[in-house]
Amino acid sequence: MGREVKAQEKAAIIHAKISQLYPEAHCELNYSNSTELMVAIMLSQQATDLSVNRLTTQLFKKYRALEDYASKPLGELELDIRTIGLYKNKAKNIRQMAQKVIYDHEGVFPNDQEKLEMLPGVGRKTANVFLAEWYHEPRIAVDTHVSRVAKRLGLAKEKDTPEKVEARLMQLYDRSLWIETHHKLLFFGRYFCKAIKPKCHECPLVDICLKPQL
Ligand code: SF4
Repeated sequence: MGREVKAQEKAAIIHAKISQLYPEAHCELNYSNSTELMVAIMLSQQATDLSVNRLTTQLFKKYRALEDYASKPLGELELDIRTIGLYKNKAKNIRQMAQKVIYDHEGVFPNDQEKLEMLPGVGRKTANVFLAEWYHEPRIAVDTHVSRVAKRLGLAKEKDTPEKVEARLMQLYDRSLWIETHHKLLFFGRYFCKAIKPKCHECPLVDICLKPQL
């Protein structure tokens, strides 16, 4: 019990400090409808949001609806997204995902974790990001940044899988904070506590951190 309270106090301090650094952390992918959001999230796997936004500025002018992704020849979609990493796999998944949403869900993305995860190329993280962003469902999506930060700050254990990190964070933070906690930890990891050369010398959490690089 005592240990749990301490962990939650620490989690609250981390949230407060990171909130001061990034009060307006948010999803950085550009989109204007649910299809664009899902496609952008799928494109962002192992790619930066910046490179995805650069690509989608043109892509979304040509592909305006799920039907466009579902009906265009695979080779054409591959060509249209070839600037992004893993484009062949992503093109195949996006095309099949669009077909499945049209045929199985009447063209509407389900507000349901399990059903989303049954779509080709959609794993837990993608489903979490989509549910939080589009349906405002309380979720903590754990990507490489969130995982690294959580482990360095002792919110999770080194060997934890992304699912385990997610479970620990959900336990430490109130449900009402899950979406913003995801964004804030992600911003902190992306721009401050980077994988290489984190800004430890100016870090407001250096006293709490388990792995300061000073
Ligand atoms: S001290 Fe360094 S490694 Fe630790 S949280 Fe801050 S930036 Fe990250």
